[in-house]
Amino acid sequence: MGSTAGRMILVLVWLVPFLGPASCAEPGKKSTPAVQEWHEMSVMYAFPSVVLPGTRLWIEGGPFPDESFGTTEVVLEGTFHHDDGFAQVFEVLPAVRHRADRVYVDLTGEILSRIGGGALREGALVVRIWVRATSLFSGREYVSDVLPLDLEVALTLVPELDAVQEDPFLYLEGKLGFQGSNLFLGEEEGSSVAVIEGCLLPAGAAGPCESGGTMIGPVALPITDADPRTRSGGTVVLPAHVFGVHPASFTGTLRIRNEAPQGAGYESYEQPLALELLEVELTQVSTVRSSLGGYVDLHGHAFAPAANGCATTFSLLGTWTPEGGSSQALDLILIPEIRDGDLARHVLDDQADLGEVLDLRTARGVVDADLTARVCCGADCEDSNTVPMRLELVPVLQKVRLMYQDSYFSALAQWGLTGVDAAIRDRAFQVIRGLYDGIHVELTEEEITDYRLYSRVEIHGFDPNGYGLLGYDNSPGKDVGNVRLHDVLGGHNALTQEDGYPGYGGVFLHSFFGLSRNPPAGLVPMEIADALFDRVFDPFRPDRKGTPVNAQEAASHTPVSHGPSCASVGTNRLERVACAVYVLGTLLGTTLAHEIGHSLGLAQPYVDGAFHNPGDAPLRLMDAGNARSFVERAGLSEAGFEAFCAEDFLYLRDVLPDPDSEGGTAGRPACN
Ligand SMILES: [Zn+2]
Repeated sequence: MGSTAGRMILVLVWLVPFLGPASCAEPGKKSTPAVQEWHEMSVMYAFPSVVLPGTRLWIEGGPFPDESFGTTEVVLEGTFHHDDGFAQVFEVLPAVRHRADRVYVDLTGEILSRIGGGALREGALVVRIWVRATSLFSGREYVSDVLPLDLEVALTLVPELDAVQEDPFLYLEGKLGFQGSNLFLGEEEGSSVAVIEGCLLPAGAAGPCESGGTMIGPVALPITDADPRTRSGGTVVLPAHVFGVHPASFTGTLRIRNEAPQGAGYESYEQPLALELLEVELTQVSTVRSSLGGYVDLHGHAFAPAANGCATTFSLLGTWTPEGGSSQALDLILIPEIRDGDLARHVLDDQADLGEVLDLRTARGVVDADLTARVCCGADCEDSNTVPMRLELVPVLQKVRLMYQDSYFSALAQWGLTGVDAAIRDRAFQVIRGLYDGIHVELTEEEITDYRLYSRVEIHGFDPNGYGLLGYDNSPGKDVGNVRLHDVLGGHNALTQEDGYPGYGGVFLHSFFGLSRNPPAGLVPMEIADALFDRVFDPFRPDRKGTPVNAQEAASHTPVSHGPSCASVGTNRLERVACAVYVLGTLLGTTLAHEIGHSLGLAQPYVDGAFHNPGDAPLRLMDAGNARSFVERAGLSEAGFEAFCAEDFLYLRDVLPDPDSEGGTAGRPACN
C-alpha cells in the first residue's frame, strides 16, 4: 500500500506541471465564447524580483477586473532551485485587484515553505506567471497571457547605504533623500528604518555644537519612498518632534537598520550627515472657490502633523463679504489636516471656524484674509510668513461620483452592447444632468479629490440582494434636507440591513432585463415589461439570436435626436444601434436620478415613511416602480420626458439651489 501511494505521488509530481495549467485554464490561448464578458488581459511585469516571507508580489498589466466581476487569482508554474536540488511549483494564489493595471498576491511564509518543498529556504524561483479571473455571473474563466519570471527567494536582507542627498538645505518635516538598497517593502517582511544621531545647533547660537547644541538620537525613523521594484532609494522625514520647530544646523550620521519580524536585524554602514534645517513657511492658498465639505488647500513647508505633542494651526485675519452685503471682520484659527510637510487641507465644516460664523449651506460671497501658519511642539512655537488668501464661497454643492463597476461591463455583454459602453454612459450622464438642472448637484465618473464630503453611486451588473431590483438606495434613513453630503449608494451597508431592507445598494444593469417580455434565464418579467423593450434590444442580444454591436457600428452610429422616434425604429442596423444606446442610457440615467433623489430626501420629504409620489401620474420621476412605465423610464413618450414634480423640485431648489441656473419650473407635473 505504502509504496503504491508513494508512486502515485511521484507520478503526480511529474504530471502536474504539464497538466496543471491545461486542466484549469489555458494561458494565452484565445477562444471566443458567445458572450465575451471581459477584455483580453496581459501580464507585463512582476516585482520585486527578490522575495521573502511576507513579500507582496505585484503584477502589472491588465486590464484586471474588480471584485464585482468575480475572483482573481495569480498562477505560478515552474521550478524552485535550491542548494539541495529543486522542486516543481504549481501555485494558484488568491489575488487582490488594486487597480485596473495592478494586482498583488501576498507571499506568506506558508506559501514559500510549500514552494520550497516543505521548508523555507533560499533559492531561485523560475516560473511562468499568469492571471485568471472567474466571472461570478457565468463561472467562466478569463486568462491573461503568460510572463516568464525569475525570482530570488531570500530569507533576510542586509541593507546598504550608498549615498545621502548632497543638498544640505531641508525644511523640517521635509524628506531627506538617500540611496539605500535591500530595503524591506512592507511590515510583513520586516521594516527598514533610518537611524539618525548627531548634534543640533540652533541658528544664531555659538558653536561648537557639543557645547551650544543638543544631542539627538540615535532615533529610528520610518523609511518612505523605497522603490517597490528594486528595493532601493528611500527617503526619511525629519520630524519637528525630534528636530524642533526652529531653524538649526545638524551634524551627525545616518544608517539603515532592517528590523526582521523575529530575530536580529542588520545595519548598514553609516554615512555622514550635515544639514541646514529650515522653519515653517507658507507659499500659497491654491483653492479659489469651494463650499461646505470642500477642501481649502494650503501650501508651504515644515507643517507638523498633530502628533507627538506637535501641531500646526493657521490664523486667518480678514473679512467676509456676502454677495450684495457689507463686509464683516474675521479673526479665526483653522486647524487643517496636515497631509505632509508641504500640504495642509482645511475642510469647510459647518461645525467649526468659518462654519460657526456663517451658514455654509447658504452663504455666498468672498473671504479676503491674511493667513499665517504656526507650528508648535509643546510650548515651543514658530510662526511663518503671512500670505494673502481670497476664497469664494458658494452655497452647498452635492458632488456625486458615478462608479461603474466591472460587473456592469460584463453584464453589458449579455445585451450585446459592450462596444457602445461609453456612448451609453454618456447618455446616462446627460439624462441625470438634465433632470437636475437648477439643482446644485455635480456629477463625475472621476475620483473626487477637492471635496471630503461627496456621494458615491455604484452601478453593478447584478443585484447581490437577489431581488432583481433595478436600483436601490441603501443609505441609512430618509435624509430630509440633505443633511448628509456623503451618502454611499452601493457596496454593503449593514445599517440598512438591520432595518430589514436589502444591504447592497446601487443600480443593477442585469435587472433591467426584467423590462423584457423574454428575459434571460433566472429573471421573470416585471409587471411593467413591454414588447417595445424587446423590439429595441433583441437585435443585439446573444440569447435572442441577435448579433452584438461590432466596433465599426459602434464608431459610426449617429446619436438619436428625437427619442420617441425609437418607439417605431425600423430595420436599419445603425439606427437600431443608436436607439439601443438611447434607450439603455436613458433607463440607466432615470434610474440613477431616481435613486439619487431618494438620497436627497425624496419623495414627499415631509411625510414620514413615504418614499415616492402618491398614486400614478404621467412622467413623474419619483413615482413608485410600477407607476413608471417602460416608455416613461426610457424617454420614449411623445407626451414628454420624466421630471421631478413641482413641489419636489421646489424642495430640491430649497436644499440645493444652483447659484448659476434656475432650472425650468414650467410644465412640471403636480406631486399630489
Ligand atoms: Zn424609489
